Amino acid sequence: GSLPDPGLVRRLLDEAHRRFAPVQDGAVANYIPALAAADPDRFGLAIVSATGERYAVGDARHPFTIQSVSKPFVFALVANALGHEEVKQLLGVNNSGLPFDSVIAVELNPGRTANPMVNAGAIATTSLVPGADAAAKWEFVRAGLSRFAGRELAMDDEVYESESRTNDRNEGIARLLKGYGRIYSDPLEATDVYTRQCSLLVTTEDLAVMSATLADGGVNPITRERVIDADSCKRTLAVLATAGMYERSGEWLYEVGLPAKSGVGGGIITVIPGKGGLASYSPLLDDAGNSVRGTLATAFLSTTLGLNVFASA
Ligand code: GLN
Repeated sequence: GSLPDPGLVRRLLDEAHRRFAPVQDGAVANYIPALAAADPDRFGLAIVSATGERYAVGDARHPFTIQSVSKPFVFALVANALGHEEVKQLLGVNNSGLPFDSVIAVELNPGRTANPMVNAGAIATTSLVPGADAAAKWEFVRAGLSRFAGRELAMDDEVYESESRTNDRNEGIARLLKGYGRIYSDPLEATDVYTRQCSLLVTTEDLAVMSATLADGGVNPITRERVIDADSCKRTLAVLATAGMYERSGEWLYEVGLPAKSGVGGGIITVIPGKGGLASYSPLLDDAGNSVRGTLATAFLSTTLGLNVFASA
């Protein structure tokens, strides 16, 4: 399959932007002090098809930190390096139904794992990144996410330092996991690399390319580079579908019918398997940490472009 006619995609993307730009519901994240400075009016949308066509509207070139939208890409790289059986055993792949920073998610899981889309499982995922030392591990992550984006990504040092200074909860989660043998390197080192990965600067257009790479079986449709193998890509979409929108993952799948991942920077990626990637940016978040305008625009586009993977026609 492929996306509908380019003229229709362009028209509906513009329409989604016009329709939801006036929405003022939600609030910018402020538990990471530097994120509280985000401009609540920013709103960008972008689509990249699996054949490399690009569409964008609004603030699609405005840089912001990727935050939890990094999680599926790091998981994909680690699954690609270790194999899907190994990562399932070590990280867990079930939805917790709990907020992204939950500690209970670990305690309630019989294997004391979480899943790679919430902080506990994401820090555990980062602890499996190959590399001789922290610098090599960080470079593996930065270079890997850059291949998904098709350009060299760099960190927002201010956001990184801000989160590092207030990172007690993630450090606590990492130490708890270490106590259960569920962190596979030094817990504070893993948390630091994870915090760096969350601080990478991207644009909505970058996220659409990254998302399209997951839609294209691991091949970047702009650079044509194979970033991960098709099996790791398929497994990543499965964990995205079940847990990418945290405790709203069920509602999201019910309304939108596509695997997606949000971040508290305001970004969301939505993967349209075999067809392309959709991305949105708007920093006003709901109480689960998902972008409000992004959620509305994605639901609108999934419906009007007929993208729901559960639809028979
Ligand atoms: N860096 C953030 C954290 O660990 C990411 C959370 C998110 O985007 N949901 O708290």
